Amino acid sequence: MMRETAVDLARRIGTGDLSAHEVVSAALADIAARDGQIGAFLSVREQALEEAARVDAARAAGEPLPPLAGVPVALKDNLNLTGTRTTCASRALENYISPYTATAVQRLRAAGAIVVGKTNMDEFAMGSSTENSAFQLTRNPWDLSRVPGGSSGGSAAAVAAGFVPLALGSDTGGSVRQPAGFTGTLGFKPTYGRVSRYGLVAFASSLDQIGPFARSTRDLATVLDAISGHDPLDATSLEATARFAEALGDGVRGLRFAYVRESLGEANTPGVQAALERVRAVLEARGASFSEVSLPSLEYGIATYYLIATPEASSNLARYDGMVYSHRALLTSEADVNAVMSASRAESFGPEVRRRILMGTYALSSGYYDAYYSKAMRVRQLIARDFERAFADFDVLVTPTSPYPAFRFGEKSDDPVAMYQSDVDTVSLNLAGLPGLSIPAGFETLEGRELPVGVQLIAPALTDERLIAVSQAFEEATSGEFLRVAPQVQTVG
Ligand code: GLN
Repeated sequence: MMRETAVDLARRIGTGDLSAHEVVSAALADIAARDGQIGAFLSVREQALEEAARVDAARAAGEPLPPLAGVPVALKDNLNLTGTRTTCASRALENYISPYTATAVQRLRAAGAIVVGKTNMDEFAMGSSTENSAFQLTRNPWDLSRVPGGSSGGSAAAVAAGFVPLALGSDTGGSVRQPAGFTGTLGFKPTYGRVSRYGLVAFASSLDQIGPFARSTRDLATVLDAISGHDPLDATSLEATARFAEALGDGVRGLRFAYVRESLGEANTPGVQAALERVRAVLEARGASFSEVSLPSLEYGIATYYLIATPEASSNLARYDGMVYSHRALLTSEADVNAVMSASRAESFGPEVRRRILMGTYALSSGYYDAYYSKAMRVRQLIARDFERAFADFDVLVTPTSPYPAFRFGEKSDDPVAMYQSDVDTVSLNLAGLPGLSIPAGFETLEGRELPVGVQLIAPALTDERLIAVSQAFEEATSGEFLRVAPQVQTVG
């Protein structure tokens, strides 16, 4: 049952063919049976059953049901939902209970979705493998010896494993798209400002966007229609009407695509190259044209991203001082406030978060500000301008989501720069504020295991809906071949 799309589940619940209660209890039972091997969830919500019963009661009373009525969904653990623990996979927030709900979450629930749990992530969303969680590893459902990507690895794995048809993550430099690519799911990073950030725990505020994971383009469009739109509680949120579902049938005839030259070449594995070729062949057969375009400043994407993301993080994470929010160290009564704050922070943060705070503080410090932060802000403009120039001639740009499929645990965790490089194709969209979608477009067999490969589609700001049209065209032409649930994990005992 959980293999079905969200839209199909909601339809069957609407006709009475299934009850929301049985769907949600099946999801919870499946998580209880199989998540021990995957580790996607940090917490599950038993209240989901009562909420499902309320959907069934509304149906019985003849009330009209919203589009995702009774559909189980998962939330990355940096999204607030009143009464849930929102840990950001950090010791700092291990016992933090949300006193309010994020706007995107409130809208998703207003659309009828039922939150069954909160998912694992890299601590404070800093990482690309979910190995930086303070609590547990999350395994890639396609190959349990490999990472699911990150930082939204738990949400990606939950959808890939078939626990839920939809999940929300957050994307600051690739954290929705890269794990989507690694797990064979769709992962969407909206135009900056299309989805409210209110209630998303901030990492780098000028880059963060909430984005969904799904296994069908129609589901993706449905969730995007639900969560996007202006929110007075987020001053950076934009006025723009969401028309995602309307775009499903638009097709790609006449659309001008271009590969981004800087993302091609031998950095990519053969499976990634084959997926790029497949996207071209499939879309050309549907009337699209393909070309190639150069964006020279993309070479500076990773450096620029880290010089902007870490200063913002060092500032955003200053609030976790043990006084109001986070874990407080137990010191003797003589300890002064500075000692308590610094001990609390030392006990709270893992090595990657410390590294980011140190880097960010350094880049902002007097004497280095001009050399690092302010220079990065100027390069950010150059990157945005390169995209604008490319979009004068093309409608959609195409790159790999990552240069390779999922890597093994430990393969990059000792080498921060190698880990950072895995976002080489995704960070520039956050810097420019553009929408991006990772679509599963192939498989690569490594050491006898079939691993999913993602291709990234990029559109101009505020034309997010175009990516839905492309994804739907690709999904139809390939009969959903690349949107399969990961092969069943054996349950132990
Ligand atoms: N991997 C990148 C980082 O570690 C991006 C993370 C994200 O998008 N949240 O910063």
